[in-house]
Amino acid sequence: MILVLLGPPGAGKGTQAERLAEEFKLPHVASGDLFRENMKNKTELGLLANRYIVEGELVPDDVTIAMIRDRLERPDCENGVILDGFPRTLAQAEGFKDILAGMDRTLDGVLYIAVPDEELVRRLSGRRICRRCQTPYHIQFNPPQNHRVCDICAGVLYQREDDKPETVRARLNVYRQQTLPLIDFYCQYGLLTEVDGSGDIETVTAALSEAAHGLNK
Ligand code: AMP
Repeated sequence: MILVLLGPPGAGKGTQAERLAEEFKLPHVASGDLFRENMKNKTELGLLANRYIVEGELVPDDVTIAMIRDRLERPDCENGVILDGFPRTLAQAEGFKDILAGMDRTLDGVLYIAVPDEELVRRLSGRRICRRCQTPYHIQFNPPQNHRVCDICAGVLYQREDDKPETVRARLNVYRQQTLPLIDFYCQYGLLTEVDGSGDIETVTAALSEAAHGLNK
């Protein structure tokens, strides 16, 4: 199954993609995580991406599409993948179509996680991430058991530079301008299912899981 999670920054795509990946035994591929990994390792791609990410802008389409193509060609994606954060522009959606056609695969569905704006800002500003294993927490809604330490691997938690208020606003603008048109794009192919993302984590997981099972039929 090839599934895309679409939604604004802060909709919970990372947390939910991780859960779906576990349930369906598929890899979770997050473009933002791939960029951050490259930034951490100071690769050429990481240095390039960093310039855009710190401003809350999108990394250019050609670079992003090439990175995802490489990732999808790895053997662990043979049975499918849960994509989170890609595609994010119409050009990426077209590029994605070409990648899949080249691999003789098709997209099964796009789950759109809808969340109101005020809620997004609240969620993003409280988000903390484990520096070691990337598990996301929220200081209010999903706090770690020990202050500032990951429950899973005991790594130190940090606030992403781009979760600070000015960058959050820039990211939401970019989302509205560049990513929202994907809703119509995928609707037109009958691939889009909207899920209410404003409830608690468990409720949203249940709704997404039900929608994903529906696609499998
Ligand atoms: P995320 O972790 O998905 O919120 O992504 C963090 C940042 O990485 C974004 O604000 C962009 O700068 C960059 N990024 C992630 N995915 C993409 C993408 N599909 N296209 C372009 N830039 C991306």
